[in-house]
Amino acid sequence: MRPMRLRILFTVILMALAGCATPPVPPPTATPIATPISATIPPATPTSQPTQTAVIPTPLPAEPTPLPVDPFPLISQDSLFATLEDLTAIQPYSGWRNSATEGEQEALDYVEQRLGDMEYLEGLGLELERQSCRVFNSTELWETRLHLTVHGQEVEVPADGIRGQRDDTSLALRFDSDGALNDGARNPVVAEGPVVLARSVDEILAEQADLEGRVVFLDYASIAEVLVGRQQAVWTANNLLSLEPAGVVLVTRFSNQPGESHGAFVGDYNPFIWLGVGPESPAVPILYARLEDLTVAGIKDWDDLSQIEAARLTWDADVFAPGTSGNLVARIPGTDDSRAVILGAHIDSPNCPGAMDDGSGSAVLLEIARVLDAAQIQPPVDLVLVWFGSEELGHYGSAHFAATHQELLDRTLAMLQIDTLTHPLDGIDADLTLSTWSYGRLGDERLTWPDYLTEIAERRDVRTVPVNSYKLQSDNIVFVGFDVPNANLIYMGPEMEDLGPIHYAAHLHNPYDTVELAREVGDVLEQMARVALAAALETGWDDPELRVSPRPDQRAVFVGTHTEALLMTPGGFADLGQTLAMEGLDVDLIPYGHAPAAVDLKDAALVVVLPVIDLPVQGESGLYDDAWSEEEIATLEAYVANGGLLVLTSSAHRLKLYNRMYDYNEDWRDVNALARRFGVSYEFETLPYRLILVEKGSHPLVEGITYLEVMEKNGASLTMSEGLVLAQEDGKVMAGLVDYGDAGGQVLALADVGMLGNASNTASRNLTFWQNLARYARSR
Ligand SMILES: [Zn+2]
Repeated sequence: MRPMRLRILFTVILMALAGCATPPVPPPTATPIATPISATIPPATPTSQPTQTAVIPTPLPAEPTPLPVDPFPLISQDSLFATLEDLTAIQPYSGWRNSATEGEQEALDYVEQRLGDMEYLEGLGLELERQSCRVFNSTELWETRLHLTVHGQEVEVPADGIRGQRDDTSLALRFDSDGALNDGARNPVVAEGPVVLARSVDEILAEQADLEGRVVFLDYASIAEVLVGRQQAVWTANNLLSLEPAGVVLVTRFSNQPGESHGAFVGDYNPFIWLGVGPESPAVPILYARLEDLTVAGIKDWDDLSQIEAARLTWDADVFAPGTSGNLVARIPGTDDSRAVILGAHIDSPNCPGAMDDGSGSAVLLEIARVLDAAQIQPPVDLVLVWFGSEELGHYGSAHFAATHQELLDRTLAMLQIDTLTHPLDGIDADLTLSTWSYGRLGDERLTWPDYLTEIAERRDVRTVPVNSYKLQSDNIVFVGFDVPNANLIYMGPEMEDLGPIHYAAHLHNPYDTVELAREVGDVLEQMARVALAAALETGWDDPELRVSPRPDQRAVFVGTHTEALLMTPGGFADLGQTLAMEGLDVDLIPYGHAPAAVDLKDAALVVVLPVIDLPVQGESGLYDDAWSEEEIATLEAYVANGGLLVLTSSAHRLKLYNRMYDYNEDWRDVNALARRFGVSYEFETLPYRLILVEKGSHPLVEGITYLEVMEKNGASLTMSEGLVLAQEDGKVMAGLVDYGDAGGQVLALADVGMLGNASNTASRNLTFWQNLARYARSR
């Protein structure tokens, strides 16, 4: 049956259902599945009266299979909030579902177990896949306890620890209680002493208080970066620690007022994460507590804190580099399994309850599965639900998913991320926004998928607003470079960003991102689920034209065999991927850990070899060390010998979204094992250039270009035994083309992989170069 006809049939049935008072009872099914909930719920039309004695409508033609029922009325806030209660009960005040921790894994276990109970979906052939991947670093909070002595009585109150800096492990080690990287032994540190209260560090400094052996309770508002600025916040935090207190407790308080603190970023981005440990600045226990949670000790207000006679902090945390994260992928087979729709959400929370961010999206995905199971509806095309890990560390789970599901991406109609429900501060307007990264930099500004979603949401009485944004959004962003129509669903408004990072005005990344707060915007959450369900079902029925790019007829293959930094692949090269797609190239990636096979490269118009980079940091490289094997080199060499076009790259640093430079890449020299086969050698001296001059008229690859953009101090100049210089600066060759073999094979050596990436806020100067590259690859 053609999808369009199925949809019409379905609509007719729904209209019939809506027009009558009692839905027809489905004929008995072969297996005794519980009565579909739909049989007992009132129809969708609000004016109709639920009754047991209504007139039987015109009989529908007999159907051999159970009648589909409208799943939309089955979406339930009770069910959504029950899931949120469960998710926020995981590792409470002990990191919650913090990225790449036990809590994150427990949350994935929970989702997996819930899906395991869905009998109808199981009967359809539901497939569950648990994925594992590494992240740069992670902080596991084993134990964070706070005991207060008030009126001679000791009382325990809830408190959480701090997560270390996600991209600098030496800074992150401040938040490892024993200071030993990659040691997971439980060995809590205990700090106790009389209490010093301060609304600001200035008070302490003015009093020249002696903090030795004392625990400081500090009003977090005084060092909240969003209120006082990073420089001031870090300076203050540093001054506090230089007085060597025994421990620090950051106290937060709820507020919904713009301009006031509510603990934004206290657990993951407070100023202490920028202070390294050293002899001058030892790693003392730092915990955070909500003032509201101190009522068990009789403390209701800031002034009551003076009743605390002493405090005892127990802190056991370990930093791992790399850390381990993962995804849960659920594939519900559609009637047409040659096409798919992907719905995503991130399961991890930024070291806070994360009821909204992104418990809301995670719960919506489960709700979609639940209502399809209850209504016994098979989706028209494959429905892939993905709970991504470690979005909050930089899109690790989604980048890993995209890298490892290349075949799926090629048959995916569109991807929708649901991240996130928010609770706007007083006076701030918000809409259900569908943001995407359009092809506007390549001349096509259409927002096909958000526009289509807006249309189908309207059918379900939900208003959404399509938005174009060349910014980090959420996990949908890693799909851009693979030319998959994508969008993120978020409750936000333009005014939110006037107050700083959107998280502040939206109540994200703070200890009040709780179920309680989410309930106040429960209707919005329900609407989000309606949009997601419409995306899951109607997209397959309607089969709208969503791709802006032409149908690809040739392939560009990226070889990421030794590229463990997953955003140094098309998953992080949004504009490059779009450019290649617009030139008719299908972008495929051979993921980290998978050796290129001759068959993978066969017929590829272009093969791009990505830098060797593994995640262990310098000095920890004993864990494992990536390098090209002889066999892999032989496979790549054979591709060129057979006439292929191979692009070589290197990178002195790890890069993340987008062309942001992080730690030194101790593996960058490993490119030479491959490059030397072609008479090319990378010379490892970091060069201060940003723009390099193109050799005018030298080759179609650099036609219409004066300068190529490189990242300062990230490239390595090249020496070539023979070949054509395309661009150089001060006599240093930064791009060159070498002929190889008798079949017309060529190697394009680029000094810096950053030449393929782009900043998020501005279009790359190299856009024309990428267009030339695609056109040249196609024309050879
Ligand atoms: Zn989020």
